[in-house]
Amino acid sequence: MRIGALEAGGTKMVCAVGDESGEIFERISIPTESPEITMPKIKDYFKKKNIEALGIGCFGPINLNKKSETYGYITSTPKLAWRNYNIVGALKEALGVPVGFDTDVNGSMLGEAIYGCAKDVDNAIYITVGTGVGLGVYINKQLLHGAMHPEAGHILMARHASDAYAGKCPYHKTCLEGLAAGPAIEERWGKKGVELQDRDEVWKLEAHYIAQAIVNYIYVYSPQKIILGGGVMHQEQLFPMIRKEVEKLNNGYISLDVLGNLDKYIVPASLNDNQGIMGAIALGYQAANEK
Ligand code: ADP
Ligand code: ZN
Repeated sequence: MRIGALEAGGTKMVCAVGDESGEIFERISIPTESPEITMPKIKDYFKKKNIEALGIGCFGPINLNKKSETYGYITSTPKLAWRNYNIVGALKEALGVPVGFDTDVNGSMLGEAIYGCAKDVDNAIYITVGTGVGLGVYINKQLLHGAMHPEAGHILMARHASDAYAGKCPYHKTCLEGLAAGPAIEERWGKKGVELQDRDEVWKLEAHYIAQAIVNYIYVYSPQKIILGGGVMHQEQLFPMIRKEVEKLNNGYISLDVLGNLDKYIVPASLNDNQGIMGAIALGYQAANEK
């Protein structure tokens, strides 16, 4: 089946065509401007592609409640031009195919669950650490929505005693995103993450915050696998540091043996940064089969 995939991000819109095996035939990237400028380009791209379904992994917050009149809308996003924009309705009308819709991180989670390193488990979480921090949650083989969708990048954190940084989140200051996303690293240390590669203290602190969040997620969601992606996680030295810090913060409370080998439990995304677009393909395929 030819399936369209849209990874709708705050800076770019990745449009692709693939099939349910996860193969990607072609893709383009369109800068995210206003809906008036960007949406016609997305529609034009997909109109010529003979697709039978479309999947969208979208920046949020978004409305995922199918019973709601505003299902498929981008809701209270700080990107004002997109606030209350009916992205699902616009693409359904233009393309006349079933449209699957979820958050960008739930999309990446699904990509890993269907095609990647979470294929063999029923419960997993996907954490992205990039411009923001997001969490995708896969429970009993379903993406978790609930009343809206998890916003677990904004969980409230205990600050490390050595860290005097005020925090970057406009809502919570020192939530996980406010302390540990790429822009927080840059503001705290005065340089972009990629230029801080050799500064051990930067990644020790980063690992501490990510591990603190992971311990909370383990206790709350009981995942069988934890996948980490996003630009900041390209600092691969973080992985052993995070695993060690998770052990330290758990402090023997739950037996980590239940989780198996931590090297296989807390892992990098496995699809070469294609997890988001492959997840969107999977969302499209699911929508086609719900018809
Ligand atoms: P986005 O979240 O906007 O989709 P990314 O996941 O690439 O995009 O995240 C961008 C953020 O990650 C920026 O703050 C950037 O400084 C940081 N970042 C990107 N690559 C790296 C890297 N290799 N090491 C450390 N930080 C990085
Ligand atoms: Zn926050």
